[in-house]
Amino acid sequence: MSSDEHQNAALVAAADAARAAKRLVVKVGSAILCGEAGAVREAWLASLAEDIVSLRKSGCEIVVVTSGAIALGRRKLGLRGALRLDEKQAASAAGQAALAQAWQAAFAPHDIPIAQILLTLDDTESRRRYLNARATFRTLLDLGALPLVNENDTIATSEIRYGDNDRLAAHAAQLVESDLLIILSDIDGLYTADPRQNPSAEHIAVVDAVTAEIEKMAGGVNKDAGVGSGGMASKVAAAKIAGGAGCDTIIAPGLGDHPLKAVLDGEAATLFRASVTHDGARRQWIAGRLKPAGRVVIDGGAVKALQSGASLLPAGVREVAGAFSRGDAIEIVDVNGQVIGQGLSAYDAGDARKVAGAKSDRIEALLGYKRRPALVEKDDLILRSE
Ligand code: GLU
Repeated sequence: MSSDEHQNAALVAAADAARAAKRLVVKVGSAILCGEAGAVREAWLASLAEDIVSLRKSGCEIVVVTSGAIALGRRKLGLRGALRLDEKQAASAAGQAALAQAWQAAFAPHDIPIAQILLTLDDTESRRRYLNARATFRTLLDLGALPLVNENDTIATSEIRYGDNDRLAAHAAQLVESDLLIILSDIDGLYTADPRQNPSAEHIAVVDAVTAEIEKMAGGVNKDAGVGSGGMASKVAAAKIAGGAGCDTIIAPGLGDHPLKAVLDGEAATLFRASVTHDGARRQWIAGRLKPAGRVVIDGGAVKALQSGASLLPAGVREVAGAFSRGDAIEIVDVNGQVIGQGLSAYDAGDARKVAGAKSDRIEALLGYKRRPALVEKDDLILRSE
């Protein structure tokens, strides 16, 4: 293969990954959304909305992580120069409403509801919040909404650093079990050195592993950036986090119109391949949930259902043992005591006992409140034979 052919094949790799994605997180930074002037680039946003709509039509679920609250809010509040933490927090509170409005306006012509989710990194780390947030994302996607994520800057207790949203996007990708994260940037991906300083820097189309050498190429965070750019370092850090969760990352140029279509069309970008498979990451996560805190005995019908890829519904549960909480790992056994698998319980043990054996449409009457039907969602389940 000539080096041109090699380069072309590599570029197609990013386009292929984008085309194959079933669930995608798109990260939009302040500099791309707001430009130097600190006002939303509406025509550009409309073009991105069209790209998102057409990807959704092809069967891809999409979550957006957007910065821009501070950039928009500082203008609204007349704040200038370097901001203190409390001023940044005030600016983000003022700007977040404007930010959501801009996205809402871009998707209104397509009749797509926008759903704002403000996360703190902690939400992806504490298990119960994690499960709640994940269930909310899932419900929003099922309902056809576009989840719009930003960091909850107003209550963040540590310094708000530009570039945090790259990491936040990686955590969001992990949370929604996305198979691809696309970070729209002001540059077309990773170079062997900073191309603005070193004209002989070469573009890298595919990164198979984020090694120390790759991290070095990304350099440090560009602290001088005006509107907000975490630089390449935070993007590579995000690719590493996402990759550990089985999610590929593409760093693609975002300033031009129709930036997602451009990726699909094979324009220059960098694809970071995930270091583990999606399924491997999920298994690791479930397997890492300490020792099972309880067990459920299920009937033969439920065993068959699980083996054919379904969730565990309360109807097939014969017995519930142990004192587990929602989110704990439980062992699933058949009536002969044979272990079928392990999964994360969506119910506390007490509630699980109340609904055991019942049809899902009785859950509300039995518990006094409405719940998603499954006791263990299929995504939270690993079967012994797998
Ligand atoms: N969350 C911040 C905002 O909306 C931006 C952080 C970042 O750009 O990484 O302004």
